Amino acid sequence: MRIGFGYDVHCFAESRDLWLGGIKIPHSKGLLGHSDADVVIHAICDALLGAAALGDIGTHFPDTDPRYKGIDSKKLLAETWSLLAAKGFTIQNIDSTIAVQVPKIAPYIEMMRNTLSGLLNINTDQISIKATTTERLGFEGREEGISAYAVVLLDG
Ligand code: MG
Repeated sequence: MRIGFGYDVHCFAESRDLWLGGIKIPHSKGLLGHSDADVVIHAICDALLGAAALGDIGTHFPDTDPRYKGIDSKKLLAETWSLLAAKGFTIQNIDSTIAVQVPKIAPYIEMMRNTLSGLLNINTDQISIKATTTERLGFEGREEGISAYAVVLLDG
C-alpha cells in the first residue's frame, strides 16, 4: 500500500465561477487560476501523484501551457488517474478537507463525492470530503482564498 498527500490554495477573484470538488457552487466570487482553480481536485490529484511518486500536478499540467487554460479540473483528475491506473494502482480511499470560511459547503458534499467517485471509478464510501472554517483566522478566514488538503491510500 502507498499513501499520498496533497495541498492546494487559490485566491478569490471577482468575475470567476466557484468550482469545488467538480461542482459549481453559487457564490459572489470564484477562485483565480489558470484552470478552473478547483482546489479540492488539485489537492486530490497531488495526493494521487504523490502516492505513486509520479511528480506533481504542476509538472503534468503546467500553468504555462495554453491547453490547460480554463480547463475543467475534472479532466485533470481523469488524466491523473489514468496515469496511475496504467501502472496498476487501485484506490483504497481518499480523504479531503476544505478550509473555507464562506460559502457553506455542506449542501454540496454529496454531489462532490458522487462526481469524483464516478470519475475515479470507485464507490462513494471510498471518498470522503469534509469542510471546516478557520474561525475567521488566516487567509481562508479573511475570505481571501480557499485551501484544500487530501490524503489517498493506493494498492499496487
Ligand atoms: Mg491549484
